[in-house]
Amino acid sequence: PLVLGIESSCDETGIGIVRGRTLLSNTIASSMEQHARYGGVIPEVAARAHLEALQPSIEAALAEAGANLGLPGPLPLADLDAVAVTSGPGLAGALMVGVGAAKALAVSLGKPLYAVNHLVGHIAADILDAQAGPLEYPTVALLVSGGHTSLLLVRDLTTDVELLGETMDDAAGEAFDKVARILGLPYPGGPEIDRAAASGDPTAVRFPRGLSRASDMAEHRYDFSFSGLKTAVARWIEQHEAAGEPVPVADVAASFREAVVDVLVTKALDACARHDVPRLLLGGGVIANRRLRDVALARAEQAGVTVRIPRLSLCTDNGAMIAALAAQLIASGREPSTLAFGADSTLPVTQIQVAESTAA
Ligand code: ATP
Ligand code: MG
Ligand code: FE
Repeated sequence: PLVLGIESSCDETGIGIVRGRTLLSNTIASSMEQHARYGGVIPEVAARAHLEALQPSIEAALAEAGANLGLPGPLPLADLDAVAVTSGPGLAGALMVGVGAAKALAVSLGKPLYAVNHLVGHIAADILDAQAGPLEYPTVALLVSGGHTSLLLVRDLTTDVELLGETMDDAAGEAFDKVARILGLPYPGGPEIDRAAASGDPTAVRFPRGLSRASDMAEHRYDFSFSGLKTAVARWIEQHEAAGEPVPVADVAASFREAVVDVLVTKALDACARHDVPRLLLGGGVIANRRLRDVALARAEQAGVTVRIPRLSLCTDNGAMIAALAAQLIASGREPSTLAFGADSTLPVTQIQVAESTAA
């Protein structure tokens, strides 16, 4: 099926068009720059930016898809088989803009509408990677972004996604952003810390690995906590400044990054072993981190686990993954969503599609 997907859960306005497993276009407009001076995404600013970006993004996506299909002009909207949209989780106001647009588009075109889960969309991004071959089940999935740190057990993308653990406080990307701020580096902090860490010693400071002690693991095996790590970095810097010593930014950045990477990879591979699943899928914007990818690949190889990582433009928030998930739902015979759904900022990952119609 030919599906147009709309994603607006955070700061990216993403419009993607797919035909089954084939990516035809993936337009992403980000309001990141508007949030930079606040050091984090401001919901109202993001919602307004979505409103402005949607129409031109849809036009750009249709033009790109038309070109990819060898058409003389943009792909006509009438050719679409369905519209898909992120219903949640995410920022309520931002989600609402995408949901409203998707409903208007689907109703005016008389096309079926699929309201889907953003996190499951991140997993669906994998199926657009043609070279990787089909996603095998079951697989463990680690999703790490500015808003999420979730460990999932995926038995079937369209029917069975189980939450193994998630962050109890800051998301991994959020931790990068906050620690960057402590170190006096600009927002978003992930790429800045990465750059600073390149010349640092990752063993310089042994920062805490949250919820990784044996006693924590018993209770919180796959939950994450990064706020203690952030506080530990802040305290370490305060002590050095109080003692009049210069702060070794590169060493602190490298040591912090190592702590985050260690916890993420250790828990993900523990989940693979415990559930006897030799497959790990990575997703989310923090996957841009080279060190995270390298450590995950190296330790997974030792453990006999195969790692799949979609290309970065499909790892960060985008509309193509939303369209891809809907295409899978359609292929497996699922009915479209009724219009009785709205934005759900706390949609649980187990709810893959929202407001499913049971009518024949
Ligand atoms: P959501 O949580 O809904 O997916 P988001 O927009 O916050 O939304 P992404 O756009 O996927 O998430 O990722 C952005 C996050 O990734 C930011 O927190 C950013 O600091 C982090 N990030 C980007 N590049 C890197 C990197 N090289 N290393 C570590 N973190 C990174
Ligand atoms: Mg983002
Ligand atoms: Fe996301």
